[in-house]
Amino acid sequence: MTLIEYGDDAIAIDCGLMFPENDMLGIDLVIPDTTYLLDNPGLLKAILLTHGHEDHIGALPYILPDIPVPLYATRLTQGLIEVKLKEAKLLDKIELNTITSESVIEIGPFKIEPFHVCHSIPDAVGYAIHTPQGLVIHTGEYKFDDTPADGRPADLDRLRRYGDEGVLVLLSDSTNAERPGHTPSEQIVSAAFEEIFDETRGRIIIATFASNISRIQQVINIAMRHNRKLAVVGRSMVDNVKMARELGYLTAPEDMIIHVDDLDDYPDNQIAIVCTGTQGEPTSALVRMANNEHRQVRLREGDTVILSATAIPGNEELVHRTLNNLFRLGADVIYQSLRPVHVSGHASQDEQLQMLQLTRPKYFIPIQGEYRMLVLHGRLGQAAGIPPENIWVIENGQVIEFDEEGAFPGEVVANGQILVDGLGIGDVGKVVLRDRRLLSRDGFVAVVVAIDERTGELVEGPDIISRGFVYVRDSEELIEEAKERVIDLLESGATHRDTAANVIKNNLSQFLYQRTRRNPMIFPVVLEV
Ligand SMILES: [Zn+2]
Repeated sequence: MTLIEYGDDAIAIDCGLMFPENDMLGIDLVIPDTTYLLDNPGLLKAILLTHGHEDHIGALPYILPDIPVPLYATRLTQGLIEVKLKEAKLLDKIELNTITSESVIEIGPFKIEPFHVCHSIPDAVGYAIHTPQGLVIHTGEYKFDDTPADGRPADLDRLRRYGDEGVLVLLSDSTNAERPGHTPSEQIVSAAFEEIFDETRGRIIIATFASNISRIQQVINIAMRHNRKLAVVGRSMVDNVKMARELGYLTAPEDMIIHVDDLDDYPDNQIAIVCTGTQGEPTSALVRMANNEHRQVRLREGDTVILSATAIPGNEELVHRTLNNLFRLGADVIYQSLRPVHVSGHASQDEQLQMLQLTRPKYFIPIQGEYRMLVLHGRLGQAAGIPPENIWVIENGQVIEFDEEGAFPGEVVANGQILVDGLGIGDVGKVVLRDRRLLSRDGFVAVVVAIDERTGELVEGPDIISRGFVYVRDSEELIEEAKERVIDLLESGATHRDTAANVIKNNLSQFLYQRTRRNPMIFPVVLEV
């Protein structure tokens, strides 16, 4: 989420979510910290969305209930947002404005022009934002593809025109700042698909992101040319294909898309399946197929599976496991390191440099990407002739202020990550996560005793319950010894009833560590009767 503020008005670009990092145990997703907006009610006037990916629209259902501002998005992006708002019962509470790359939007002191860019989803835009201080360009996520799947290359003329007008600051996508050269065109994916379809006699199963509408269109086109019917599998894939067809972003002959239940009505060489599961998500269609647990699609020798996506960092292990399982079932599996069945949706260094040269900004702020990518993108800015002091490599929450004198860093606003777990938003913090990590490492041991409330004498117990520490049935001796220790502690009178819990905890912790070299979390429960 990027905030652009002037006087009493601000607009936000995008409102995405992040998937949890590996050490965020049990967390479903991570959303931006909007404390600054909540502390300044009325400041935010609108949210403008660049494209329909989760990391750009996914947090809307969590943010909008507290900050119900109008949204601006292109038609496909809007379609994807509507699905989310409907689920969150927010659809009739939020004003949704449809824009095109020809729109001009006036919000307070801002005059905003969306411009078309290519990305791995159609209908992606960047924004040119005219402010009283000058022109701000936000690229969204983009690449320059002369032959994109939807036939609409990025609007370079418009970018050049902005460059001629004079750009105050460019905020540009840094995702592929580590990659030299030019990101290959979607065309090479089509060519690779074409070859595979030519060679293959059995069924072809293609896994891709449910939001990658362009890729799905490529599959439809090629399947059609090879006289194959297409079944769509996976809930989000089915929903998105339905929505995109209704809006006209996917075109397929009516009789070509078949229901997955009807696969048996066709010979193998007339079947293609497009499904979810590129990240090895445990409940996804592809993973169920790989585990031979999918109700309708049983993979077998002769099937060809194409993984048309890359693993998002952190998901590699799950993806590799899925690939192994697919091979185990006898399927042939084709993925990016074998053949070019996927290309990135982000600009590589050549395109990033071209963006800088077209817009010729006075100031440059690399956005979207991990810190090292921002730094590398910043260096590219220098190569494009921007003085180093005009390039701001900044972290979340850092404000950059522009006035007649120039640009300088302002305050740092709240920028934490808000964790979402089940129905809880932001209630899981450092302490809960630390406990989860401890529990996941050595498990827990609970000790329940009842003592006389006057004398402190043991009345009942101790009972010992443990999970994730040892397999109790194989460790009866250890548990018995632990019980005896607790009895000794209480009977020796060494413990006052007020301190019994702590004494049990410390003593047992030491004992269990000596015997097992493990540090389970210990919960003493002392009941006074
Ligand atoms: Zn994206």
